Amino acid sequence: MAYDPGNIFAKILRGELPAYRVYEDARVLAFLDIMPRAPGHTLVIPKAPSRNLLDIEPEDLAAVAAAAQRIARAQMTAFEAEGITVTQHNEHAGGQEVFHLHVHVIPRRLGVELKPPLSYKETADVLAEQAARLQAALAD
Ligand code: AMP
Repeated sequence: MAYDPGNIFAKILRGELPAYRVYEDARVLAFLDIMPRAPGHTLVIPKAPSRNLLDIEPEDLAAVAAAAQRIARAQMTAFEAEGITVTQHNEHAGGQEVFHLHVHVIPRRLGVELKPPLSYKETADVLAEQAARLQAALAD
């Protein structure tokens, strides 16, 4: 399947759509999911135009993995997490909704179930506060 440069995350990368950005380097961008399954739910994406795991270059995949680890460690303190869930979907049949590769990094607490996907849109105020909190933990 071909990469479509009109997807939402490509627009975020080009600055055509806003995002609650928390981390960026030469190869990746991380920003908050606006329909979080738990507080602090973050998406890590490659800057390279990759549809999903099936077409991403190994170097970009490695950079995404390293950034996901960095985000996960920061979430442990920023969101007083007790664990982290990492998921990644490929193609419609694999649960993918946005066709630019993204890794979900989700802070978890014991006994707290994840919200269903796409079930709740977080408010701008809360997302802005959470992005600042995660940025501060990433800077430590
Ligand atoms: P997936 O099912 O893995 O493709 O997940 C797509 C994710 O993108 C969902 O968790 C959505 O909540 C999230 N999402 C969709 N649009 C945006 C957006 N503009 N900014 C941040 N996250 C988004």
